[in-house]
Amino acid sequence: RVPVPALLQRPADAIVRPQAAAHPRIPLPCDLFAPERRNSRGVEFGARTALDQLLTDVKAETGDLKPIADATPDQAHAAVAAARAGFAGWSRTPAGIRAAALEQAAHLLESRSAHFIALLQREGGKTLDDALSELREAADFCRYYAAQGRKLFGSETAMPGPTGESNALTMRGRGVFVAISPWNFPLAIFLGQVTAALMAGNSVVAKPAEQTPRIAREAVALLHEAGIPKSALYLVTGDGRIGAALTAHPDIAGVVFTGSTEVARSINRALAAKDGPIVPLIAETGGINAMIADATALPEQVADDVVTSAFRSAGQRCSALRLLFVQEDVADRMIEMVAGAARELKIGDPSDVATHVGPVIDVEAKQRLDAHIARMKTEARLHFAGPAPEGCFVAPHIFELTEAGQLTEEVFGPILHVVRYRPENLERVLRAIERTGYGLTLGVHSRIDDSIEAIIDRVQVGNIYVNRNMIGAVVGVQPFGGNGLSGTGPKAGGPHYLARFATEQTVTINT
Ligand code: NAP
Repeated sequence: RVPVPALLQRPADAIVRPQAAAHPRIPLPCDLFAPERRNSRGVEFGARTALDQLLTDVKAETGDLKPIADATPDQAHAAVAAARAGFAGWSRTPAGIRAAALEQAAHLLESRSAHFIALLQREGGKTLDDALSELREAADFCRYYAAQGRKLFGSETAMPGPTGESNALTMRGRGVFVAISPWNFPLAIFLGQVTAALMAGNSVVAKPAEQTPRIAREAVALLHEAGIPKSALYLVTGDGRIGAALTAHPDIAGVVFTGSTEVARSINRALAAKDGPIVPLIAETGGINAMIADATALPEQVADDVVTSAFRSAGQRCSALRLLFVQEDVADRMIEMVAGAARELKIGDPSDVATHVGPVIDVEAKQRLDAHIARMKTEARLHFAGPAPEGCFVAPHIFELTEAGQLTEEVFGPILHVVRYRPENLERVLRAIERTGYGLTLGVHSRIDDSIEAIIDRVQVGNIYVNRNMIGAVVGVQPFGGNGLSGTGPKAGGPHYLARFATEQTVTINT
């Protein structure tokens, strides 16, 4: 049932973005340098010649990737003790000096782009496009938290009071913050967590994912070089057992965690079981993210945005699209267009500039995804399966489900699930989204303002994207984080984030 034109409250050309019209449907790495690609401060990232130079520099980076030894639980405990000793000095360091160190870190990151891009490709399997976006995001976090930190921690806030009494509110660090991060943004999320905790005046013990310790080690060395005292920041590598040893330590004052819901729950339980002070947990976790495309949506744009949202970064983004609800009247055409756009993706070596989809992170991830694909082949209708080279690659797949409930958990790879819906059943779609229990991202493609508003009003999801793709939140522009099973709610890259890492103190003086 295609709505009559009178219901179309926005003309089609008001929605097509200029870049969607100017570029091929699938964004190519060279689009990175199109003039409209700017970072959150509006700074352009060079021209085509800069890309050529960068590629040459990235290729020249050939450092070895020898294994990094895991820490023992005793070393993890020693790091907490040392960070505790370092807290007093760092928390008393003026906010302006803390901020200047973060700004210097952003500068060092950008001046070593080729090195970090090569590392992201070799240890994290990132394509050039993804590695460059991640590098930008990491630098943006440093600068944004520095700017926010100057405002929040730079001076006390005078409060009103009766004559003869002065009242002031200050914010300060809590103590030792443990920062536990995932492998899928081994530079940006790692640095985002650590710099937020440091800017708020905490000392930090950071534990990166076991798959990406080298990137973390270099990021910590860079922060030390930028002016963060060694006594305020420690790195502890190892697997989840080391993370658990850190969160069980009696002397920690906070935990910031990004990863799976399951591990967030286990950390929450460990913190709750401890005697002593109540330790806050900032948890940013996964999602079964949906997009709703109705019959008024522009099919070419939906195809472009779905392919970007579901398959870019091999679907290994917490924000990635997993469940596409398409209005029945246009479903065949839309699925065909999405499959057509997916067919154009090049899957393979991430160091090849033409590659759109690189490998998945490791053999275990590939096995989990292959098992899901095998199950879907028996339970759902396969619309598309791309080719994949030998190795840790998973081809993009598109399955059609009979109902959304068939997808019961986050599937962290390039697998899209499509469900058809009748327009009179939109409420059922929204209930199905709610029933997942997650609340991270949601996409909406429609030209009917009333339905867009009704959906926004109804769903409790952290980030909603209307008539565009649903990945790549920009620091300071689209604060990012979810609710329910997707996390405790703080918005990384947003104006209120740093306050979550701080404690507040009110001083009342009878003058
Ligand atoms: P994960 O398995 O939950 O691991 C995350 C981190 O927790 C790793 O450093 C891991 O160490 C550590 N860990 C494991 N068990 C632990 C325990 N019992 N106590 C303390 N720490 C423990 O997640 P992942 O596979 O690395 O990352 C993918 C997940 O992250 C997905 O669910 C994705 O949606 C989510 N994610 C969310 C966001 C967001 O902003 N909301 C962003 C990115 C990713 P080891 O790796 O060494 O085991």
